[in-house]
Amino acid sequence: MKPGKFTQYNRNIVTLDFLGSLERTHTCGALRVEQDGQDVVLMGWVNRRRDHGNLIFLDVRDRTGITQVVLDKEVSNEAHAKAEAARSEYVVAVKGKVRRRGAGLENPNMDTGAIEVVARELLLLNEAKTPPFSPAEDAIANEEVRLKYRYLDLRRTEMQHNFALRSRVAMAIRNYLVEQGFLEIETPFMTRSTPEGARDYLVPSRVHAGSFYALPQSPQIFKQILMISGFDKYFQIARCFRDEDLRADRQPEFTQIDLEMTFPKQETIFRVVEGFLTAAFKAAGIALTTPFVQMTYDNAIKNYGIDKPDMRLPAMVSLTDELTAELRESLKIEPALPVLGFVIPGVGELSGTARKALMSEIRTAFGDCGLDALDVARLKTNASFAPLAETIEKKLAEDPTLAPKGGREDGAPGSLSTSDLAVVITPKLGTPAKWNHDPQWIYKRVGALRLQLGQKFADKHGRFQKTGTEADYKFAWVTDFPMYEWDEETKTWIAAHHPFTSPHEDDIKSGKLVNDKGAVRALAYDIVLNGTELGSGSIRIHRQDVQAEIFRSLGMTDAEAKERFGFFLDALEYGTPPHGGIALGLDRIVMILAGASSLREVIAFPKTAKAIDLMVDAPTPVSEQQMKELHLRVASRS
Ligand code: ASP
Repeated sequence: MKPGKFTQYNRNIVTLDFLGSLERTHTCGALRVEQDGQDVVLMGWVNRRRDHGNLIFLDVRDRTGITQVVLDKEVSNEAHAKAEAARSEYVVAVKGKVRRRGAGLENPNMDTGAIEVVARELLLLNEAKTPPFSPAEDAIANEEVRLKYRYLDLRRTEMQHNFALRSRVAMAIRNYLVEQGFLEIETPFMTRSTPEGARDYLVPSRVHAGSFYALPQSPQIFKQILMISGFDKYFQIARCFRDEDLRADRQPEFTQIDLEMTFPKQETIFRVVEGFLTAAFKAAGIALTTPFVQMTYDNAIKNYGIDKPDMRLPAMVSLTDELTAELRESLKIEPALPVLGFVIPGVGELSGTARKALMSEIRTAFGDCGLDALDVARLKTNASFAPLAETIEKKLAEDPTLAPKGGREDGAPGSLSTSDLAVVITPKLGTPAKWNHDPQWIYKRVGALRLQLGQKFADKHGRFQKTGTEADYKFAWVTDFPMYEWDEETKTWIAAHHPFTSPHEDDIKSGKLVNDKGAVRALAYDIVLNGTELGSGSIRIHRQDVQAEIFRSLGMTDAEAKERFGFFLDALEYGTPPHGGIALGLDRIVMILAGASSLREVIAFPKTAKAIDLMVDAPTPVSEQQMKELHLRVASRS
């Protein structure tokens, strides 16, 4: 044995112990007063060690919890001596007896806090270098260190909980889908490009010089082919790879709950997703009520200014009709454009100065786009506008989230309280009706302000705080997305989704597909939770002629379409049934359920914002030999 495997204590040198035939009887989170007096064997890591001379306490930890172990010199001199040598993160085995803790010595914060184990024997199974941070700590500030020493970070109780939750959630989803008759089928990692809108990760072929596989951005084409093959209901908890500029909530590889069905209506898919989400949330202790709210894209924009509405706050309200032509004239408001308002509840009464500061903050943020904030409080002080202020407030107070059943604590139902902040946005004279071809831009701009103020006053209104109940989770289905988006850079229409999404049948029949692309609706839908998109899907194109037309309408020549998707266009010609599906981000669902702030908290070995794995140190250059085998040469290094 190498000298490093010896541990020094009390000027003696002891070797580490072997496990031998010892078996653990309980996990470190299992023991309760019911086991008082029982002989047990525990194994785990030393979470903390407290030396009180003749008594040493070791908190022994495994993934289920922590048990306090007492090493009493009078019980075993030898075990006590070993405990003197033990340090944080040493791996130990303890043979001993469960003892109920004395009155007043219980620890109500620990599940095992009513007992301790009095050790007769202690085995030091392995030592540990002093770790760069202690897994016993709750919060470790430096995330880079956490990621570099991920194996230590993952030992932390919070992380162990997150991954236990992840496993439970994934299993609940799997079980639900299998019960519903879905088959889990794997699709390849080494394939060709899938058009999900990101860059591909490529794998060079050794055998075929100059050719590359692409890692799938999603199993999209394969799952559609599985429908053509007659599998009827497919799902997969699938890894996807997208090389895109990483934001805080993105990872280059992530996991989707991916599914596809034959002959579905949109509602068929909604019910399946609601079913598996209910199962997943149940696994996290939360009962959901279904069906979820459903709204069209146009209504989402009209009411929330965004296609992923956060319904925890009151919606936007149209005040367009309240601002009559005369009022618009005297207030210098553009005659034909919408006037929008919303309430941020419970902000508290603002002083005159605070209100003015907020108004100017809003105006500054709008810049010269033409939008302006209307100071409702000031209107009230002017006799000719006071009735308008009153009408506006009344209309804004209609939001059902402001007046829950039974009335509100701080005011009569249907009226704003003095602590609610009413925000009204008007277009100044000369404000453009469209911005970048977008007639909905005013709604989007005001919607963004709503979210911004919602964040700013989050502590005040408290609606983002978790209560641990269903009320924390506001789900919505958003449907009827536009099929195309205008791309100002290339001055062309581009697919808003992947190009296999079916347009509305009516919009194909009426010729809009060719004549009025901006008005074509897609049979595409998103599922949204608290303002985050959890997943998206669509009814697919199942006819070769329509698919070819869509490729064409996206500016792809028939030859290009054949070159990229020829196999798929071919497959469509052999009796493709109508089909549709969806994919939801598993990482994000678990993140929300864990109450975590980043996907990195629920992905065991995540990458940094620069797409680096700090633990294994990837990516790295490879040897000349490997490059040669792959027929590659590096032109420049970063
Ligand atoms: N393939 C799509 C995505 O990854 C989901 C779907 O349309 O089913 O976003």
